[in-house]
Amino acid sequence: MTINIRKVTVLGTGVLGSQIAYQTAFSGFDVTAYDITEDALAAARDRFTGLATIYRDEVPGAHDGKAENVAAAITLTTNIGAAVREADLVIEAIPEVLSIKQHTYELLSTIAPERTIFATNSSTLLPSAIVGFTGRPDKFLALHFANEIWKRNIAEVMGTTHTAPEVFRAVVDFAATIGMVPVEIHKEKAGYILNSLLGPFLVGAIELVGDGYADAATVDATWKIVTDMPAGPCQMLDIVGLNTPYNILANGTDHQQQLAKWLKDNYIDQGKLGVATGEGFYRYDTSPR
Ligand code: NAD
Repeated sequence: MTINIRKVTVLGTGVLGSQIAYQTAFSGFDVTAYDITEDALAAARDRFTGLATIYRDEVPGAHDGKAENVAAAITLTTNIGAAVREADLVIEAIPEVLSIKQHTYELLSTIAPERTIFATNSSTLLPSAIVGFTGRPDKFLALHFANEIWKRNIAEVMGTTHTAPEVFRAVVDFAATIGMVPVEIHKEKAGYILNSLLGPFLVGAIELVGDGYADAATVDATWKIVTDMPAGPCQMLDIVGLNTPYNILANGTDHQQQLAKWLKDNYIDQGKLGVATGEGFYRYDTSPR
């Protein structure tokens, strides 16, 4: 199988989809971005404009109008047939709802060319939960980016047992070509590498504070002094936003559900979601962008 990726279609133009589309276009690929409504596309245009400003400030080579030209060059459409008609690679970044993803792949399987590779950016769903709907198990895998793709530039690549090795390799190469550090994962793992490490670490911190063993500042100081890291887990949780750990813990063991309730009662219900709202485990003078 000869694989040549030139035309890339991104499904979903929200937080991650817009970044994936922009970074891919910035790297010289022909990019089409699809979303379900004109309002979503209008929001995507605003996101691309915002990304152009960020790239101009933070990314080498984005000057002399390139950042703006990239934003303008991305084709936006609400017509899924037109979006995928010529795609070599479809990167899906639609909501993290299994039934929505399954229905979307079922539709894609009938309208995309046979050669088209499908990649899901899902953070929590295993590709094997979706592969049966793709109509092309050998050409389907996960390609997982991190938020703020231009600086947190990893791309975790994870196939199912059906993924063809040459497809896996082509997607690894594509990730490298768009400036990512490809992370090759040899078999399916919920949470990939990053969240498999980060999840227990952050939950451990919530347990220490929520169960009353120590306060947030003590937990963070312990971590920072010994590891030389600039931030402790409670500071990191404030950056991530406390809704995310809440949602994870609320679906966990009995003890984790108690911790979720503690987070809800003491932080979330009081509007303390972290840096974004000016207060979480710590108080912040200014809100980040
Ligand atoms: P988001 O809510 O910001 O964006 C989702 C987009 O999909 C919206 O623009 C919405 O209009 C669109 N959409 C809704 N239904 C659709 C459909 N049927 N077909 C096409 N588009 C549809 O979500 P997000 O945060 O960008 O997350 C998208 C995916 O990326 C999820 O699978 C998530 O797990 C993954 N992801 C998110 C992050 C993150 O930090 N936000 C990081 C890595 C991976």
